[in-house]
Order: sequence, then structure tokens, then C-alpha cells
Amino acid sequence: MIVILKPQTTEAQINQLVAWMKNMNFEVNLSGKLQTIVGLIGDTTRLDIGTIKAIDCVEDVRRIQDPYKKANRKFHTEDTVVEIGAARVKIGGGNFQLIAGPCSVESEEQIITVAKAVKASGATILRGGAFKPRTSPYAFQGLHGEGLRLLELAKKETGLPIVTEIMDAAHIPLFANVDLIQIGARNMQNFELLKEVGEMRKPVLIKRGLANTLQELLMSAEYIMASGSPDVILCERGIRTFESATRNTLDISAVPVLRELTHLPVVIDPSHSCGVARWVKPLSLAAAAIGVDGLIIEVHNNPKCALCDGAQSLTPPAFDDVANCVRQIRACAAGMW
Ligand code: PEP
Ligand code: MN
Repeated sequence: MIVILKPQTTEAQINQLVAWMKNMNFEVNLSGKLQTIVGLIGDTTRLDIGTIKAIDCVEDVRRIQDPYKKANRKFHTEDTVVEIGAARVKIGGGNFQLIAGPCSVESEEQIITVAKAVKASGATILRGGAFKPRTSPYAFQGLHGEGLRLLELAKKETGLPIVTEIMDAAHIPLFANVDLIQIGARNMQNFELLKEVGEMRKPVLIKRGLANTLQELLMSAEYIMASGSPDVILCERGIRTFESATRNTLDISAVPVLRELTHLPVVIDPSHSCGVARWVKPLSLAAAAIGVDGLIIEVHNNPKCALCDGAQSLTPPAFDDVANCVRQIRACAAGMW
């Protein structure tokens, strides 16, 4: 429920109203510039709209149907800017970032080489999987703790904050030095994991599930936020459709739709969307043109020998070209969103 206050409402009146609502066990969120908007989070079905409308300073009361409150733009009109790592790399609210790195961390040489290369091309966050969600139990599963150690080493060498996927809450202690926790598409609705990751109070990048709606993605973000982390980045990474020419279908319209529904930053993963290295560039350009807050792109120093997702991995020079063209598109499109 949202309560819109009259423009002339005093601070004392706001405080009194907020105290009354908190006393009834509602969480209260204040927003708005010219007029204060009071967002009530909790079971508002027991509240009588008429009683609230009768309060002097109240202009209007509306019931909100959307089941996500913390992620909802109605309660938080400003874009959320998420800061990542000691370098406080900002994403959202006009801050665009390139996240790049291999699908999986494979060796010290591989991750350090790729980290240095993507940094030189303008990437500001390093990706790399240590725990890999593979369809086959016989496929490379990641280097686990050793992979995390190598990512930390790459961070030390380059200063790039790191993002990597967590698959099991039991692994949380291993992720202490990870700057941005990734929830993969397959775990988007692993609600117990979402709750425990939210309690880590670190920034989280959550990927849309293979067959999930945007509302379901927002509900999953809500789980993380309700558990303690307000810093959630949403990632569109392609969904399952009847089309089989691409690995998944990039739902580019997720960007403007999510912009309206939520204040959280939105990034696109063109690599998992199409599954083919040569299509990563056009999808990246489309994403840049539509005003996304970031791109997460797979880059490998030797894609043909990659232990995971080599077909969709860019070489460092190909990534350099994509990064340059993305910057040009952003410069042309600036101000049009
Ligand atoms: C990944 O980013 O390496 C990954 C496994 O992605 P997704 O969860 O989107 O499939
Ligand atoms: Mn991958």
C-alpha cells in the first residue's frame, strides 16, 4: 500500500504517521520529492483505507498489487546505484560497466592473462566460474576453492573486483573475498540459497531463470533484499523459446520493462543468450543501444581449448573490438533513453 501525503505536510506529521505505522508492525519506506510517498510493507489487508484517508495530511491511499515491494520503483523512484568492491565500481543510475572473463577459472595463467587483457580493453569487473552448474555430471565442474583462490589472485594483480557464482549456501565461507555474488539462472528460484546469500549483505548479481518471467525475477530479487542485501543487479541472459538457432533467446525488451518496474540495475549477458562468439558483438551493441547498465561477456585466451563454453567465448582482441564499439554506441545513444 502507498500513502501519498499532501505537499504541505510537516516533518512532525510524517514522523508521527511513520511511528504509528511501525507500531502496527509495518516496514515503512519514504520516497518522493515534492510530495512524500509512504510505502507500507507488510500485510496491509487488515488496514482500513478509509481510516488512513481520513488523516489530515493524507492526500491519497492506493493498494499496490505488485507482490514485490523493495524492488519496486513505485516505492523507490531513484535508480539504485550498486557499488562493487574496494574500488567501489558503480553500476546503475547512468553508470555503465563491462564485466568480462572466462566462463570458468581453469588455471593461474589463464585467469591472469584474461584479467589483464579485459582490463586493458575497459572491463571494470572480472568474471570467472569456480563452481559450474553443468548439465552433465561428467563435464568439468570448476576448480571450486582453488578457483576462488585464483580469482583473488587475479584481483590482486589487476585491482579488478570479482564476480563468481555460488551454488550452495554451505560454500558461503569460501566467498568472503568475492565482491559480487552471482546467482546463476538455474538457481534463480532456489529460495533458501537466496535468503542465505541476502544475509551475506554483499552485492548480488542474479540471472533470470531459463523459463522465468520478469515478475518471478523481481520476486527472487525481493528475497535477497528482504534478507538484508539491497544491492541487487538483475541479469537477462536469454530464455528458452521454440527457437533453436541460438542457445537461448535474448529478451531485449526485458530492459525497458524492468526499467519501469524496478529501480535495480539491469545487465545483459549476450554470451549465454546466443551461445555463438560471432553473435556476441551484435547483441552487445543492441544492449548498449537500449540503455542497459552493463554487459557480462565471456572471454577466453584460447576459446578452442576452453573447458566450458568455448563456442561463445570471445578472444581478447574480439572483446577489445566489442568494448570499443559499445562505447561508441553509448556515446551516440546518450540522452535518448
Ligand atoms: C555463467 O555465467 O557462467 C552461467 C553459468 O550463466 P547462467 O547461469 O546464465 O547459465
Ligand atoms: Mn558460461
